[in-house]
Order: sequence, then structure tokens, then C-alpha cells
Amino acid sequence: MSKLIAVAAVVTIAASFAYAEEKKAESATDESAVAKTEAPADKKSAKLAAAEAKAALEKQIAENPEKVDWSKINWRERLTRMQYHIMREAGTERPHQNKYWDHFKDGQYRCAGCGLPLFESTSKFDSECGWPSFDKTIAKDTVKEQVDHKIGYARTEIRCRRCDAHLGHVFNDGPTATGQRYCMNSASMKFLNTNQLAVEIKTAKKSKPPKSEATGEKPKVETTEKPAPSTTDAKE
Ligand SMILES: [Zn+2]
Repeated sequence: MSKLIAVAAVVTIAASFAYAEEKKAESATDESAVAKTEAPADKKSAKLAAAEAKAALEKQIAENPEKVDWSKINWRERLTRMQYHIMREAGTERPHQNKYWDHFKDGQYRCAGCGLPLFESTSKFDSECGWPSFDKTIAKDTVKEQVDHKIGYARTEIRCRRCDAHLGHVFNDGPTATGQRYCMNSASMKFLNTNQLAVEIKTAKKSKPPKSEATGEKPKVETTEKPAPSTTDAKE
């Protein structure tokens, strides 16, 4: 008889334990259901905020790239894997297997990171080394120079003065009057041909508000046209 009572007691305890577990599972399901209903809204607002921040950044880059804090840019997002390796990890691309080594069209070469004009096509020459080479930069402060001992001897590395991207090296063995040979990575640059440059100048002129006349009338500001973003990838 006592054996029977003991068995009954065990069964009762087991049943109540199972009931408690079931309740626990139910409440957990309820909690995850609540979490599920809240998640999409949070996700949406976070996505929206990120999109807004991105649009604001693109606007600033297009309108005033000098004011952009380039140290805070997500380069992994903006550059291709190859560009990231060259520009942010100071890599070097293969000779004769890059975009501009034998490219001699008229136009301008710019930094692929921030759009800063680097070289005019008139300063490009064939150095027969397999990399695009130039004998002078567009302006004196276009690039920053620093000593690089990466391959055992000192070379002068050049970086974009605005976004600090690695561009290549400069040597004092150039064949032209400047004596300089800027040995560049194609991946660090983008080329704009003369037509693209003309369109850019025209668009910039149109978007500039005209100077106020002596009549005292307020100048009309065109708001529909924006300057072409300087970082847009150029197609030749
Ligand atoms: Zn740059």
C-alpha cells in the first residue's frame, strides 16, 4: 500500500514539474513574440538613420570635400577590395596589369578615395615600368611624402594630402625637366576625360548663384541643379 502511495506521489510531482516547464516555455514564447514585434520597427528606424547619414555624407562630399572628416570614412564600404588593399594597406598592384599604365588620353587623374585632382594627363609619360608615371603633381601640396622602408631600402611614399590614401612612390630619376617620376597605382586613381571635365565645369557654373546686381534685387538661386559628385566613378 505504502509503495502505491509513493508511486502516486512521484507521478504527481512529475506532473507538476512538467506543468511548470510548460508554463515556462509558454512565457518564453510570449517574450520572443514581443521581441519579434518590436524588432522590425527598431530595424527600420536604424536603417533609415543610416541611410540619412549616408545621404548627408554624400552631399557634403559633393559640395565641400575639404570639410569632410576623411579619417572617419568607412573605406571598406566605399572602395573595392583591390582599392582598399592598395590605398588603405599600402599595397602595390602588378606592373602591366593595371588600368592606366599604357593609358594616354587627355584629361585629369584624381584620387579614387576623395576625388582630389592629382595629375594632368600632360604630365604623364611612358616610364616603361608598367605603372602609370607622371613628372609633376597638379599643385605643390597635392600629395604628402614620407619615407618607406618596406622593401629594405628607403623610398619616398606618396599619399593623398586630403584623405591620406596611399598612392605610390616618387623617385628622382625622371627623364623630363622636373627629374621626378611619380610611380602610381592605377587603383588609387580615377580618370576624367576632357568631355567629363567640361561638363563638370558647366554644371558647377550653373549651380553657382549669380552675383547680386547693382539694382538691389535679390539674386535668383537655382536649387534644382547640383554639382556632379567628385567621387563618381568615371567611365572613359
Ligand atoms: Zn584622396
